[in-house]
Amino acid sequence: MKHKNKLLILYIVSVCFLLCGCDKQQEETFFSMDTVMNIKIYGKENIMPEINELITKFDRLFDRNKNDSDISRLNHGIKSEVNSHTADMISTALSVSRLSGGAFDITIAPVMDSWGFYDKQFRVPSKSEIIEAKKAVDYKKVSVNGNIVYTGNALIDAGGIAKGYLSDIIASEIRNKKIKSAVMSLGGNIYCVGKRPDGQNWKIGIKDPQNPDSSIGYVNVYDTAVVTSGTYERSFTENGIFYHHIINPHTGFPADSGLSSVTVICKSGARADALSTAFFVLGRDESMKIKEEDVEIIFITDNNEIYATENVTLHTDKKVNILLNDK
Ligand code: AMP
Ligand code: MG
Repeated sequence: MKHKNKLLILYIVSVCFLLCGCDKQQEETFFSMDTVMNIKIYGKENIMPEINELITKFDRLFDRNKNDSDISRLNHGIKSEVNSHTADMISTALSVSRLSGGAFDITIAPVMDSWGFYDKQFRVPSKSEIIEAKKAVDYKKVSVNGNIVYTGNALIDAGGIAKGYLSDIIASEIRNKKIKSAVMSLGGNIYCVGKRPDGQNWKIGIKDPQNPDSSIGYVNVYDTAVVTSGTYERSFTENGIFYHHIINPHTGFPADSGLSSVTVICKSGARADALSTAFFVLGRDESMKIKEEDVEIIFITDNNEIYATENVTLHTDKKVNILLNDK
């Protein structure tokens, strides 16, 4: 009997040891930055409260609708001292603007407003209204010096980069806590930390832009951002014409480059986010001219053709046209 008891205690202790030593899957969904954010972490420590704080902090910094956010203060003056992350996010945005010749422009706010994307009262503005709004869009007016940002009276909308920037921040918090495996989706912005707990790459689905509840296939990746800009994210139809939220800053109209989605795969969530918007505006051929080596792209055209740069491992039963890296 005594022997049996000892065995039982040994069994219970071993089970407890195994349970404590195992990484648990923790999953939480947040609503912030006007979108649903889902985070899965495989680790012993529960760091969701810290992540929740980060999400709240960055929403407060970047949301132009909140009176005391950094972006709101910038939009009410010509210069302001901001949080170092806001300065860094704007610097990254400006570098993508320069790379893309202004296809990505963080000063797009007046045009977004005139289409009603700001207050969600969607409408087609008059030509003169668009011309007027477009005049105010110019990333060259904006400069960053340390934590001081000068706007030159331009109005900032960080919607094309904020979620990607936040994914980098959350990923570095996860890595700092020595957690090796996590995956998050912040709206269309996916970020994978490490590999899956079983040592395999993550399988990240690429949405079918014609039917965003299903996917055209998946990519096999680790330690990277996978960010998609697609017309399905925000759009409206008026008089039978489809209008979406990715604006060509040079025309003031929704970008019309023959694409319905662009996915960018690279190590930085912020760059992937801004680049996916820029590539959407530029279209396939112009994007390929400026694509950097560490960036992979999947383009899906209006007529459902798929193009992928040569290093993308896209698993799909559809035909994929390969784009070679030599420019
Ligand atoms: P995304 O879904 O990342 O492509 O970003 C689209 C969001 O970025 C829009 O909802 C706007 O807030 C903003 N945006 C739209 N067009 C542009 C543009 N050409 N450059 C920068 N931001 C843009
Ligand atoms: Mg973007």
